[in-house]
Amino acid sequence: MIGLRKIKPANRDNVRRQLYLAAGLLLCLFIFSILTSCERGHLLRKTTILMDTIVTITVVSDSRLAAEEAIEHVFKELKRLEDSFNFYSEESELSMINRNAGIRPVKVSEDMMDILKKAIYVSQLTGGAFDITTGPITRLWDFHKKDIPDERKIREALRLVGYKNIIINERNSTVFLKKKGMLIDLGGIAKGYGADRAIEILKAKGMKAALVAIAGDIRAYGFKNNGSPWIIGIRAPRGKGDDDLIATLPLKDSAISTSGDYERFFIKDGKRYHHILNPVTGYPADSTGGVSVIADAGYLTDSLATGVFVLGPEKGIDLLRKLNLKGLFITEDGKRFSTGDINGIRFK
Ligand code: ADP
Ligand code: MG
Repeated sequence: MIGLRKIKPANRDNVRRQLYLAAGLLLCLFIFSILTSCERGHLLRKTTILMDTIVTITVVSDSRLAAEEAIEHVFKELKRLEDSFNFYSEESELSMINRNAGIRPVKVSEDMMDILKKAIYVSQLTGGAFDITTGPITRLWDFHKKDIPDERKIREALRLVGYKNIIINERNSTVFLKKKGMLIDLGGIAKGYGADRAIEILKAKGMKAALVAIAGDIRAYGFKNNGSPWIIGIRAPRGKGDDDLIATLPLKDSAISTSGDYERFFIKDGKRYHHILNPVTGYPADSTGGVSVIADAGYLTDSLATGVFVLGPEKGIDLLRKLNLKGLFITEDGKRFSTGDINGIRFK
């Protein structure tokens, strides 16, 4: 029997060494299991097409089932918002407002009232550089056909642009566009607004952390299940595509939006025509590359990125500084204009 066998002194050292080794191994295993048990829950990611773009939602949750249900709930809600805010569908609530421009006030939903108030607020912040009444001009620009609209038509459409002609009556929940032919286009704010709603739902559903990306409008809360922050990439404005990044940064309980002249554009006679329009001229804002804005809400980063792009790097960064927000312009030749306080940003 092994237990009764006498161990020779030479062997005794060997056994002791083996015991130490086994104890060390056990200790390592113990530490490893503690470290891995620090992973807080499962990470689940789902992608779909909504709001005319790619929507990716990542959540951290203890229950995979609860995570799946929460994400499905968000997708449904985003579809509902999309149906209401759709500029191109005759059936949308927005089209109802637009059709009645210059005719009568229209009773609107709580969401519509909310997004319109937020859009007007950002118009005020940007001195009209962001203006949802650019609809008559956005309609003239077709970036597939690659045609520059008739100058006379742009001039006529410009007479209909002006956020001050949106009349809101909160008591009656109505919206009235003063001039016949006015058109509201929520394309510069709806995705960020959607990201806010998504985060609200995911929090209410008990998700421990989440990252919502609706194209370039991204909002995060909490930390990944391994305890590190969500990392966001900013693409190079003249790079090879979405994966060609110029910088990365951690995003903690806030939102980031990027607007650029590379999303929808055409080039004619060496000039770039893109989808961010200057509400004063009716033509695309100066082609400067891209701008990212960081703030606590997605509606704000989305609309400000669009507005700040119109203002251009100098005035745009000045405005962000005044508002105590963070932002970064990256020009087409790689120059940077920044509020200078983006923690953890890394350039490639
Ligand atoms: P993307 O839609 O590519 O994320 P933006 O958030 O910058 O880009 O929004 C651009 C969209 O906003 C345009 O397609 C148009 O519908 C609308 N838009 C364009 N110029 C303005 C502007 N100056 N103010 C408000 N909305 C605008
Ligand atoms: Mg925007």
